Amino acid sequence: MNDSGRKPDFKTLRPATRLVHGGTQRSQFGETSEAIFLTQGFVYPDMETAEARFKGDEPGYVYSRYANPTVTMFEERLALLEGAEAARATASGMAAVTTALMAQLKAGDHVVAARALFGACLYVVEDLLPRFGVASTLVDGADLAQWRAAMRPETRIAFLESPTNPRLDVYDIAAIADIAHQNGARLVVDNVFASPILQKPMALGADCVVYSATKHIDGQGRCLGGAILGSSDLIENEVHGFLRQTGPTMSPFNAWVLLKSLETLPLRVNQQMSNAARVADFLADHRQIRQVIYPGRPDHPQADIVQRQMLGGGTLVALELSGGKAAAFAFANRLAIIKISNNLGDAKSLITHPATTTHQRLTPEARAVLGVNDGLLRLSVGLEDADDLIEDLAFALDSLDQQGLAAE
Ligand SMILES: *Cc1c(COP(=O)(O)O)cnc(C)c1O
Repeated sequence: MNDSGRKPDFKTLRPATRLVHGGTQRSQFGETSEAIFLTQGFVYPDMETAEARFKGDEPGYVYSRYANPTVTMFEERLALLEGAEAARATASGMAAVTTALMAQLKAGDHVVAARALFGACLYVVEDLLPRFGVASTLVDGADLAQWRAAMRPETRIAFLESPTNPRLDVYDIAAIADIAHQNGARLVVDNVFASPILQKPMALGADCVVYSATKHIDGQGRCLGGAILGSSDLIENEVHGFLRQTGPTMSPFNAWVLLKSLETLPLRVNQQMSNAARVADFLADHRQIRQVIYPGRPDHPQADIVQRQMLGGGTLVALELSGGKAAAFAFANRLAIIKISNNLGDAKSLITHPATTTHQRLTPEARAVLGVNDGLLRLSVGLEDADDLIEDLAFALDSLDQQGLAAE
């Protein structure tokens, strides 16, 4: 607000503008960049104010486990991007998933989840929730009949990720939301792989969206973070109390890093996506590659759903080499620019071999059900020049011939 007194209404402004200005709270110093409030607590002018704040009769901060001004700025900016009424930040993506589920569930409830979940999400659904009396059923997320059949009277939550890790399957969020709602359940979507730029699950009918801000939102490999978004009712009445009392709170420093990252999120995601599309097309034509999976390509198995619910194919590409694990290892070991790492969404292109890393914990049978075979690699495409990435990939693929790992 300048001297004119005109105040922007962020709900009517476009996403890029929301991401630069939304949620900003300036201190009395009028700083340009948002301030980091590295403080645990807050002082009150008098005892009456302290009493009123604790009673909730007066707005204002009390303790940074409950809320902190820098964290609030991040939450508000992200909620404006998502089009959600409210958001809460958490220490990591897994803190967001665990909080979102635990805050909404109680013993006797039932959860239906797509089987292709991030490893730690699978642990929460399969191992942790049952310990507290919450049963779960895993389904093939692409098969709507399985979602329908798994619903029970006590089903409270349907949970999915789309695109999935690592095979980048895309599920019909609107159809699954309908199935959940017809059965009195809510749909929670882990939207990490699409990022808030490319997919808006709440507009498709989801009740709650969770993020690992560690991925595209930071996008520069610096800090962990997470977020839970939904209606004010869900966030304030169910999620907030759980967070406040159990403490998986985001640090104000991390909130500041992530808040500044939101300013450039659309630029980064769109450029990474354009690089990913070029890399996917290059790989699809290479004879060492058995299969390329990229949601932005017309040969993706759910290309029609991608068209309906995403603004593009995303920043990840899955590729399967003909020569199995030996070829996958030899290929990745010969890359020079693309780094071997299990993170994703980063400015640096990163490649991982799911069968021996993220999905190592699973039995070979469980990996087979998920299509995580030994020749599969997951490539998170970064902000390098796409031509350099393609040359790096071409060199490593061509070197497979010299190592006697040519395509059969
Ligand atoms: C990384 C990731 C998480 C967990 O996030 P952390 O920030 O590592 O705790 C959850 N879901 C998906 C899909 C992820 O990729």
